[in-house]
Amino acid sequence: MDIKNAKYEISNADYRKCPAINVPEYAFIGRSNVGKSSLINMIGKSKSLAKTSQKPGKTLLINHFKMDNGTWYMVDLPGYGYAARGKEQRSQFSKIIQEYILGREQLTCLFVLIDIRHSPQKIDLEFLRWLGEHQVPFAIVFTKADKEGPNAGKKKVEEYKKVLKKEWEELPPVFITSSEKWTGREELLDYIFSINKEIAEGEKPHIEEELKPDAEKNAAEI
Ligand code: GDP
Repeated sequence: MDIKNAKYEISNADYRKCPAINVPEYAFIGRSNVGKSSLINMIGKSKSLAKTSQKPGKTLLINHFKMDNGTWYMVDLPGYGYAARGKEQRSQFSKIIQEYILGREQLTCLFVLIDIRHSPQKIDLEFLRWLGEHQVPFAIVFTKADKEGPNAGKKKVEEYKKVLKKEWEELPPVFITSSEKWTGREELLDYIFSINKEIAEGEKPHIEEELKPDAEKNAAEI
């Protein structure tokens, strides 16, 4: 199965102003330059859906993309871990991200992007830990797989999993992608479509209302 269409809809700094439509939403996040815009463009089959930024940290807002005539959304979240803008602005990014993640009821799965070439970075591990603490459903997407050979790439992923296993009882779903080669696109879409189907068939929603912490209260904690 493939997408039928993808269209940019709106950008917001506040999750409360995001589209008030109750359809499943899949958000993408990662450090600046991880390949997030390229991945969103690959999924959306467009060269310009998310602007591939030249400058790290350029994407400061929550960007909504309407998928398949509005039956689900892709969301491009601001990059995290970009220090060069100064502490104040960085914490502002964090607030936008945290409030969206903890407050957006439509959020069905958060895809956390990791550059396959890098060994586990403190900021990513801390972010994953924070997601776990708040019971946010997430999956890991390794990007730029073409920059490693297939075997080297798999080895990197295994090494990463080994680090995660030290503190996680169960590992999240893992995808290996390359926007350059369109690797992993089908697997990601299959995953999204299977969740959409479950939700449409009225199976257990992926985000339990009672498990969702208060956004305001937790925003200062990260
Ligand atoms: P963002 O800042 O996370 O949105 O990252 P971008 O999508 O703008 O990508 C950052 C840089 O990595 C750009 O120069 C992209 O061309 C490059 N890039 C992104 N994805 C891939 C990939 O799958 N393979 C390769 N070789 N380069 C990639």
